[in-house]
Amino acid sequence: MDEGRRFNRMQNQVLQLTKWIQQNQRIVFFGGAGVSTDAGIPDFRSKDGIYTKNRNKYPYEPEEMLSVSMLLNNPRLHFQFVRENMEHGDIQPAYSHRFLAALEASGKDVAVVTQNTDGLHQAAGSQNVWVLHGDNRRYCMACGKTVEKNQAQLDDEGIPRCPYCQEGIIRGNVVMFGENLDSKVVSGAIDAIAKADLLIVAGTSLNVYPAVSFIQYYPGDRFVVINKEPVVQAPGSLFIQAGISEVFQQVNETLALPVS
Ligand SMILES: [Zn+2]
Repeated sequence: MDEGRRFNRMQNQVLQLTKWIQQNQRIVFFGGAGVSTDAGIPDFRSKDGIYTKNRNKYPYEPEEMLSVSMLLNNPRLHFQFVRENMEHGDIQPAYSHRFLAALEASGKDVAVVTQNTDGLHQAAGSQNVWVLHGDNRRYCMACGKTVEKNQAQLDDEGIPRCPYCQEGIIRGNVVMFGENLDSKVVSGAIDAIAKADLLIVAGTSLNVYPAVSFIQYYPGDRFVVINKEPVVQAPGSLFIQAGISEVFQQVNETLALPVS
């Protein structure tokens, strides 16, 4: 397809999405890793992702390095991996995060269901966020207190220890490989999806767990998928192959929401 036709097709798709956002009250945004890559956070599986970069670099596969059994049995190695790969400095919400917060503030009933743990939707101001894999808080495994990042003290082995009880290991409030999703979060997310008038799925290829198992609860026919890469399973959807922030910027040329 030549560039002109591609451009026209995308304009029509964005117009359709814009109409659906205008016409529907209950909107669920289901986001995968591609939402965070807009903010500069590397994903796991793509060719520049954490998984691909680290295969064969450590004695175990990346999933094992990030598993709860590694945290419990070999915390030194686990935290070395976390420090080298999972800490991204000062990350700010991307346009897509800020657009969704502005859409909610405008009076729409917006629920965000996210597979990301960076806390960027909350930082942007979204109130109704279901974090399937946890968030960016940290807590002590011994006394349970929340610990700010700069309060963690590294011991001789590079393991972050609690400043309150002095001995507990500090872990992220994330669902690690080998752990189950929080059942309250799962049912809240399913409930929101089941009641949605419009479902927007973005930044996921849709062929990985858990995206497919959640979106099957959507009963409607206004289903939009936004992803930079082609997706295999999106029957009946409006598929826009583009970046999420780019699409929402175009939508907002019509909506004119005050995106901060
Ligand atoms: Zn503690």
